[in-house]
Amino acid sequence: MVLRQTLLAAARSDRLRAAASGTRLTRGIVDRFVAGEHAEDAVRTAGELAERGLLTSIDHLGEDTGHPCRAEDVTKGYRHLLRLLGQAGLASSAEVSVKPTAVGLALGEEGVQLAAGNLSRICAAAAEAGTTVTVDMEGEQYVAPTLRLVASLRGEYPWLGCVLQSYLRRTDGDTAAMAAEPGARVRLCKGAYASDPATGYTERRDVDAAYVRQLRRLMDSETYPMVATHDPRLIDIATTLARRFGRTYDGFEYQMLYGARPEEQRRLADLGAQVRVYVPYGRDWYGYLVRRMAERPANAAFAARTLLRR
Ligand code: FAD
Repeated sequence: MVLRQTLLAAARSDRLRAAASGTRLTRGIVDRFVAGEHAEDAVRTAGELAERGLLTSIDHLGEDTGHPCRAEDVTKGYRHLLRLLGQAGLASSAEVSVKPTAVGLALGEEGVQLAAGNLSRICAAAAEAGTTVTVDMEGEQYVAPTLRLVASLRGEYPWLGCVLQSYLRRTDGDTAAMAAEPGARVRLCKGAYASDPATGYTERRDVDAAYVRQLRRLMDSETYPMVATHDPRLIDIATTLARRFGRTYDGFEYQMLYGARPEEQRRLADLGAQVRVYVPYGRDWYGYLVRRMAERPANAAFAARTLLRR
């Protein structure tokens, strides 16, 4: 728990981010979890995964954007990526995931408008390419504005997906609200950010219990649940709940991160399930990778081994 909190604090440190970026030291770890630096790398990876029957959601790495120009660059990056996906004929298997703070949400009052405009332009490019967008969920202070952002765009883009995090106490209420929206694409995850005991669960068993409760609610609704977890127990429960509520494999999907449990991704896809792999690309990998280490000591150990080998 202490290691997790320390790593999650490190994930937000600009000083450590600057020190880590570009160092050869970290390349081994980056290569395992990140498709590459360029949109072309992500498209190539999406194509390879599609050949193996796997869907993808591509994330242009970057978050907590401190300047509108950077948010504009990220938006252009996504639009370029979406054009490439369309041209490569991958729009039916690959979508994009967008972090609201990467397109401006962290920039105060004006940031809300800026993020809404940028996300709308990304959605327009996705519609043109023939695919969809899911809006990632970040730290707790962004949950309410992100849900408002998604609600404001869903009228025009009904396929716009959002994420709920089971570690937050508010999520039972948010799940009930989503469950009332037929067709809503909802990714359920445990949550990758530091939790405040006043507003979130800090014990793993409480997070897991909340996940099961919320997943049950989504499965028993007309939403499209996206089950984002590597946890074998929760994957089994998802399978059982889907059956219990009469969902066939096209009525929900499993989601896992690139580089995490690839053999399980394959196993589920071989059963005929829809499995979507979250594929990050870009240079700004620092925060993403440190969160991966925080959630799994084995990832931190892998990082340490890579370091010692050099
Ligand atoms: P954990 O509680 O980390 O692990 C439970 C068990 O699962 C472990 O004991 C182990 O048996 C197994 N396991 C877990 N990881 C691995 C692994 N790499 N290899 C082998 N076994 C493993 N978080 C957000 O806050 N916002 C988001 O928008 C968001 N989007 C996500 C999108 C996707 C597709 C996924 C998969 C996760 C996303 N997350 C997001 C991260 C998520 O919140 C969790 O932090 C992360 O998935 C770890 O939790 P877990 O459910 O996999 O299980």
